[in-house]
Amino acid sequence: MNAITIALSKGRIFEETLPLLAAAGVVPSENPEQSRKLIIGTNRPDVRVVIVRASDVPTYVQYGAADLGIAGKDVLLEHGGTGLYQPLDLKIAKCRLCVAAPVGFDYAAAVRRGARLRIATKYIQTAREHFAAKGVHVDLIKLYGSMELAPLAGLADAIVDLVSSGGTLKANNLVEVEEIMQISSRLVVNQASLKIKHDLLQPVIDSFAGAVQ
Ligand code: ATP
Ligand code: MG
Repeated sequence: MNAITIALSKGRIFEETLPLLAAAGVVPSENPEQSRKLIIGTNRPDVRVVIVRASDVPTYVQYGAADLGIAGKDVLLEHGGTGLYQPLDLKIAKCRLCVAAPVGFDYAAAVRRGARLRIATKYIQTAREHFAAKGVHVDLIKLYGSMELAPLAGLADAIVDLVSSGGTLKANNLVEVEEIMQISSRLVVNQASLKIKHDLLQPVIDSFAGAVQ
């Protein structure tokens, strides 16, 4: 048990995690964008990286298949965080979770008159809590991707989705009508691993913490 496994997703999280790993003296031996390997070694014989879907990171860490992982707050809220220690906001992969609607749809007026809104999203839990707290009646429709299409195709009045530049919304004639929360990625740690592999994990967590500043 003197090795650690880190769960990461491909793309922006992997890229933005590289400097943090470097601060902990860890350099992955391959780039998952190029390689099809799902288990990637590093310069350290006692550290390996597993490449999983972003929304699967908390699950790998929860069950101890990975000791550490990096996941967006969006993903962690939907997962619930059971069994996960969340010591650090890494301040990477920053974006915001928003309500967006077609240009011309008066969202504020619909809310004021108590209309029942159809909302398409991948973030059912977070959306449910948001609209419940505001007292807005919604029918939530679960989607797995391309949320922007839903209002255009007549599936929903509005969507709840992540936005960074707003370019995708704009390209699809949508506008942000409400910000739900700011999102960044967090370090998650398996609680049992933290006890059993403390000597190996704590220095990595400390290096990440130092690199975030
Ligand atoms: P897939 O694209 O395979 O369906 P995904 O959408 O969950 O998976 P990514 O798009 O790589 O995966 O997003 C991973 C995480 O990065 C998200 O959970 C979120 O925290 C963050 N993220 C998503 N979109 C943006 C964005 N536009 N800008 C910054 N961070 C983002
Ligand atoms: Mg994506």
